[in-house]
Parts: sequence; structure tokens; C-alpha cells
Amino acid sequence: MALIVQKYGGTSVGSVARIKRVAKRLASLKDEGNDVVVVVSAMGKTTDKLLKLAHDINPQPADRDYDMLLSTGEQVSIALLSMALHALGYKAISLTGAQAGIETDSTHSKATITNINTRCIRNNLKAGNVVIVAGFQGVDKEQQITTLGRGGSDTTAVALAAALKADWCAILTDVDGVYTCDPRLVPDAQKLDDISYDEMLELASLGAKVLHPRAVQVAKEYGVTLHVRSSFNMKPGTLVKEVKDLENIRIVSGVACDKTAAKVTLMAVPDKPGVAATIFTALGDAAINVDMIIQNINRGQTNDITFTVDDTDLEKTVVAVKKLKKDLKYKGVVTDNNTAKISIVGAGMFSHPGTAARMFTALGKAGVNIQMISTSEIKVSCLIERKLADKATKVLHKEFELGA
Ligand code: ASP
Ligand code: MG
Repeated sequence: MALIVQKYGGTSVGSVARIKRVAKRLASLKDEGNDVVVVVSAMGKTTDKLLKLAHDINPQPADRDYDMLLSTGEQVSIALLSMALHALGYKAISLTGAQAGIETDSTHSKATITNINTRCIRNNLKAGNVVIVAGFQGVDKEQQITTLGRGGSDTTAVALAAALKADWCAILTDVDGVYTCDPRLVPDAQKLDDISYDEMLELASLGAKVLHPRAVQVAKEYGVTLHVRSSFNMKPGTLVKEVKDLENIRIVSGVACDKTAAKVTLMAVPDKPGVAATIFTALGDAAINVDMIIQNINRGQTNDITFTVDDTDLEKTVVAVKKLKKDLKYKGVVTDNNTAKISIVGAGMFSHPGTAARMFTALGKAGVNIQMISTSEIKVSCLIERKLADKATKVLHKEFELGA
């Protein structure tokens, strides 16, 4: 007998038939004698529809109302799933984030879980219930409803698994697991049997949509083994865990591409101490996430500084840097939102010199120009022209022999 936390995404609970199927799957886990906690997302595209409703009424809804509205999607799912289990003759209880004891800070729309009071969940497990928890939501100290940021149900599940010391946490989704690359783009992409937390964190942050990056972070921090698998079949999926076997480590595990990168260049910024700090502090204060940064070689008394942001933040970025123009006396801003960031990720690359060179050579041969480069121990990223992104992904997947 085990304590299992499972999470079902929006597609997996997207219709009456699908909710009934999830209920059957949970029932058989229960029949095997397990304690089961299940986290669900809102049905299908519900959250997007709620967002559109809000936007049609007021393009700038109050944070509190935004969370009040968005949290309702998950409440529909928990109630229906509980009804489905009851119809099968199983004991089940639906709990909102607040009822499940999920406490967060007060950062509406992107709150962080600060504590989970597991008493209510434990009591309900003891009473023989399948405990169904609304994903993506919690409650702050003032009893205000909060949400955890889009895709946040994964984080709810992992945090619950950590707090309950569950035997494992399964993320059930509409794909068979984590792939070497997006299989819709590269048909011979392979499903990985396992992947390390660090690699998964890079892939998730790079836009491989299968797991929410924050969920991977929490899993790593608390040593929760994550099992990513399909809710539509019983295939084994991918295990996300600490990979210790250095002998068998892959040089490159996957290729990911983020097509939302936008490039910003500040021209002729005076070359003196504190300038970069001023620029990036201003962007941080405006809650803009900066990704790649390069500062070119100094010409005379000035530098060009180029960085990337998400293209949805581009306008905000231009506003923020223009405010600095009088102080910093740089020459001008140039922006380009036709860029993409292509990355190779692999825990073994730090011990294989020449991996980056191999990437650059393959891109060069394919006629893909590299605009910026950034690296970490387990990742090399290149900024390229957006229209070449798919081609570059295929080229690198082939170069590192990741296909079936
Ligand atoms: N329903 C929320 C969203 O669509 C949370 C989730 O699915 O994880 O972002
Ligand atoms: Mg979702």
C-alpha cells in the first residue's frame, strides 16, 4: 500500500467521458489498497475562457478578482470528479485549495505556496476517501483566494506530495512522457525513460510545456520522484529524479526551442561602473525577466548592451529603458521580436568538450546565423532568427542523434 498523489491536466478532465475515465483509474488505484490524493486542473480551455471573460469586462481586473474568477475553473473539476467517484460507489471528497490547507503568500496571480496544513487531507484519507484537491490555488493569511500562475496545478501536486511524504507523484497528461524534442515537429523524437531534475528544469523553462518549471524546482528541493505519463494509456512514461549514474549520463538529452524571445539593444551606453546595474535593476523593478545578456567590446567610451526578454514584455521593456535615457545618455534602442532561442540540454555535456562547437557547426552548415550565445553546465542556447527555429530544431535533433 502506498500514498500516491496524481495530477490530471485540463485535457485529461476535458469532458464528461474523460472525467468518468479518470474516476475509473482512481478507483482501481483504490482497489489496490492505496491512499490516493488527486489534483485536477480546470476542464479543457476553461481558464483561457475565464480570462477572456475578464478581459472583455475590464482589461485590467483587480488582482483579487482575477484570482477569484480563475480559481473557479478547478472547483468545477473537483466537484464533478467527486460525483463520478460516488457514482462508481467509492468514497471521495472535493477540497478547494483553502480547504486542503494550501497557504500562500499574497502575490495574486503568481502566488508561492508557503505552507501546507495537511490535517484535513490526512483525516479524509483515514476515513477512506479519495481526496480531490483543486489545483493552482491557495489562500493567503487574510483568507484571500490566490492562484499560482498559469500551469500551476503541477506545483500543487508536487507540493502536496512533499508535504504528505507521498511515495511518488504522477503527472498525468496528454502526451506519453518527456521527449527529446517536440514530437509534433520531429516525428522520430523519442520518449525518455528518465531525466534528471536539472535537465527537466532547463527543458521546462525553455518551453517544453509538459511540466511547470516551479513544480520541477519543488520536486528537486524535496526529493519528490515525478512520474510523467499519459492519462489516456497505461504506458510507463518518464521518471524525473536525481540521476546519479555518471557513467550512463547522456551528453544531450533534448532540444528545446522558445519562440517567444525578443531582442533589445541599447546602443552606445557610456562605459562606466554601475550602468548595467541601473539598467537591469530598472527592468527587475518592472517585473521583466531578462534572459540572455551580452555586452560587446568597448569602442571609445561606450558599449552596446544586448539582452532578450519574452516578447510579451517587449513594450514594457522599451518603456522602462526609455525612462533611463536622460540619465544614462545612451544613443538609442533597437528591438527585434523575430528571434527564437534554441537550446540543447544534457547533464553530460560538461564532461564532453566540444559539444557547443558541434552545435554551432551544425547550425552554420544549415545556414542558421547565431545572434547570441549563452551557456550553463548543462545547456547551450543560441538566439537565432525565428523563422529558422523549426529547421534548427530538426538539425540539432539529428546532429546529436536523438531520433529513434
Ligand atoms: N487551469 C490553470 C491553467 O490553465 C492551471 C493548470 O492547468 O495547471 O493555467
Ligand atoms: Mg493547464
